[in-house]
Amino acid sequence: MLLKLKKGIIYGPVNSRRLGWSLGINLLPSSKKVCAFNCVYCQYGWTKIHKASRRKLWGMPSVKAVGKALKKALRTLPAPPAYITFSGNGEPTLHPDFNAIVDEVQSVRNQLAPRTKTAALSNSALVTDESVREALAKLDVKIMKLDCGSQEMFRKYNQPCDGLYLEDITEGLTQLSNVSVQTIVSGGESGNLNQRNLKEWIERLKRIKPSFVQLYTLDRDYPAKDISSAPREELGRIKKKVQEAGLSAEIY
Ligand code: SF4
Repeated sequence: MLLKLKKGIIYGPVNSRRLGWSLGINLLPSSKKVCAFNCVYCQYGWTKIHKASRRKLWGMPSVKAVGKALKKALRTLPAPPAYITFSGNGEPTLHPDFNAIVDEVQSVRNQLAPRTKTAALSNSALVTDESVREALAKLDVKIMKLDCGSQEMFRKYNQPCDGLYLEDITEGLTQLSNVSVQTIVSGGESGNLNQRNLKEWIERLKRIKPSFVQLYTLDRDYPAKDISSAPREELGRIKKKVQEAGLSAEIY
């Protein structure tokens, strides 16, 4: 079964494989997934609002509403979470006030949960935008998607909006420090598991120099019919290749 969309601004805390006890923040409407990508493996199903512009949509919360909801959640929890994480129903950086919201969230965090770290799970689509990079740079942890090595594979696997180029995204990622790259590997006709893609993807990683590469395969439901989970041994081989390129990698 595909994952249900988050109902409000705050969700969880959830026990995240990467971050531990993490309180989620959803900056997108609760009725439709909004994303600049339409990944073949998306756990929420196909993208309903496919857009890369940062124009405000009905259902996107104000800066004040996010601060208020977070205060309420932190006051109710028995203990502060390890992380407050921007994620939710699509791509969080599509919110036009993302930068101001990061400031608000960090201000509330400083008051009510000073030891809690802040993080974002992002698809990297808007990392070409300076204000998005500025906002991401304020976070303790930035987990950024990079699944493909070529524009051709990117178009097929992540199905980005027109005008998004893997080369620009790679360049944007090189301008952020201390990023983790997250990659979902899958086989099948529409999968990204092939030697050519792998080689080109590793070349991009060498330019980005992430502090860490997180490798995943499919473990939830997905909308495409022609993809399949990558075998564990294959992920092991990819991890080894990333390490041979001088980077750290882990399989989740
Ligand atoms: S970037 Fe994330 S939310 Fe958007 S389609 Fe891909 S997996 Fe789904």
